[in-house]
Amino acid sequence: MTTHTKVPLLDLTRTEPLLQAELREAFERVLRSGQYIMGPELTAFESECAAFISAKHALGVSSGTDALILALMALGIGPGDEVICPTYTFFATAGAIWRVGARPVFVDIEPSTYNCDPAAIRAKIGSRTRAIIPVHLYGQSADMDAILAAAGDIPVIEDAAQAIGTKCGSTQVGALGTFGCFSFFPSKNLGCLGDGGLLTTDDGSLAEKARILRVHGAEPKYHHHVVGGNFRLDALQAAFLRAKLPRLPAGTAARRRNAAKYRECFEEAGVVAESPIDVGAGEIGLPFARRDHTYNQFVVRVRCRDELRKWLASRGIGTEVYYPVPLHEQECFASLQHRAGEFPHAERAARETLALPIFPELSDGELRHVADSAIEFCRRSARG
Ligand SMILES: *Cc1c(COP(=O)(O)O)cnc(C)c1O
Repeated sequence: MTTHTKVPLLDLTRTEPLLQAELREAFERVLRSGQYIMGPELTAFESECAAFISAKHALGVSSGTDALILALMALGIGPGDEVICPTYTFFATAGAIWRVGARPVFVDIEPSTYNCDPAAIRAKIGSRTRAIIPVHLYGQSADMDAILAAAGDIPVIEDAAQAIGTKCGSTQVGALGTFGCFSFFPSKNLGCLGDGGLLTTDDGSLAEKARILRVHGAEPKYHHHVVGGNFRLDALQAAFLRAKLPRLPAGTAARRRNAAKYRECFEEAGVVAESPIDVGAGEIGLPFARRDHTYNQFVVRVRCRDELRKWLASRGIGTEVYYPVPLHEQECFASLQHRAGEFPHAERAARETLALPIFPELSDGELRHVADSAIEFCRRSARG
């Protein structure tokens, strides 16, 4: 592969022609129907999703963020309440807690999976704890058995925004806790052509509450016993997602194949750290392989992360840092009075992790170019 080849982190324009035709047909169908909000496309998509995830109830909502807010609102969580979540995640996990007026109580991560540490959760449970939000980060299942055991009667809201289709044991994530929250942001494994999300639950009365809160708390229309919001998923996005959902398993399989190829390349070249959490100068820590993973991101750990990122960029390779600043260090949460050093695994991950291109349409040649470039970087670093 020549050095001019550009390998993007993600390329959404590579949608296969057949799917493009199906998306156009979905658009035509909604246009002809004249029904753009709620209606049959949405309810059909919701039952297809409920069946796919094996959850009793699924509600299409405006975004993954709004799915989290809706779950918290349906549980009646607000001022004076505490909600436990990891400090190393996308901002929305804690932002949603803050938005309902509750206090995010951060916990550190397991260094090998970047998912929240169940023992840390147990240690933070107190008299004000009203919910726990574990995140299935990068598409990998959190340790749900231990988290559910630690939670006891406290509701668990799974942030499965990056993990649709990931299993924990024989159950899909999002179907294990009280609520599951999914995002259809275009870069997620099932993305729509805009913003969208999904809320799942097995609890009929919570599903009903969420359904009412989704439309300003109206039940019946124009009669409000509670204040909700506009948390609806557009019929158009539901129709697009109905076209894409049947292709999700193939996309996931391709992501897993790409991950296996990266692993093979790095292992063959002998640049893999003995312990993925203790990388040396010329080594790469690979994603922990023993928990189910659908690879929304393929995240490696490298001591000289910023140098690797620059090196790859100079070879036309797109990468991203998820996430450079842990949430306890964000300015907007300064009033929580956390200090640097309080969550050492999260802080180290923020310094050392880098996401490589993993999207399903990535070609073998492109993957090889990324792997070879990273390997060359490791060899040069090892020589110091
Ligand atoms: C993407 C994401 C969200 C928010 O989803 P949006 O649809 O962008 O609002 C929440 N949590 C995590 C972990 C995410 O990756």
